Amino acid sequence: MREALRFDGKILSAKVFSKGSRWFVSIAVEIAKITTATKKTGKQTGIDLGITNLISLSDGITVKAPKPLKTKIKKLKRLSRQLSRKQKGSNNRAKAKAKLSRLHLQISNIRKDALHKLTTGLVSEYDVIAIENLNTKGMMQNRKLSRAIGDLGFYEFKRQLVYKANQYGKTVKELDRWYPSSKTCSNCGHLLDKAELPLSVRQWQCPSCQQAHDRDINASINILHHADKVLTHH
Ligand SMILES: [Zn+2]
Repeated sequence: MREALRFDGKILSAKVFSKGSRWFVSIAVEIAKITTATKKTGKQTGIDLGITNLISLSDGITVKAPKPLKTKIKKLKRLSRQLSRKQKGSNNRAKAKAKLSRLHLQISNIRKDALHKLTTGLVSEYDVIAIENLNTKGMMQNRKLSRAIGDLGFYEFKRQLVYKANQYGKTVKELDRWYPSSKTCSNCGHLLDKAELPLSVRQWQCPSCQQAHDRDINASINILHHADKVLTHH
């Protein structure tokens, strides 16, 4: 290996593997302390996970899902079709297969890169970050939503968020029980009927206190107020 290790410490193990017809080595290093000294910002935020907006924050910021995947996925479909037409056992088939696995690797790198930027941004910007429990949100029951999760890696999002928060000395909390975060007015607590807030309604006004709400941002405010299970060490 030409590159110097980025971490000082005792090397515990090294695993060599191939992916997308490239070779990688993964090295585990034991290090004393990984806390990065980060300035406290005094800010906290709740996060609502979605499809059109990957995340909506309780302070009104929304982040869209990364788009560069679309063209790559088109290419992926084309390559898969080409592969299926190649004769089994032929050199051309092996070549097409290698091409396809390189593309898979590229796509997964784009996703990972977008998630890393997002989670690093969040833990730098906020001291306390509140998220929903993905199981209680019932995300996997909803096909459209579960496709989005597969694409964007919400579990990976949570994993990165927690380990980076630990590293930066920040706190991640989870709303660990079922709570009608979309249907509850974050201003007065008024609860809407299911029929009053179909998925298509993105903006609504509370019939009780008249407050105007963006559906996802209202949900993220509720998540911030009701999350109490701490997932980090801080
Ligand atoms: Zn209200």
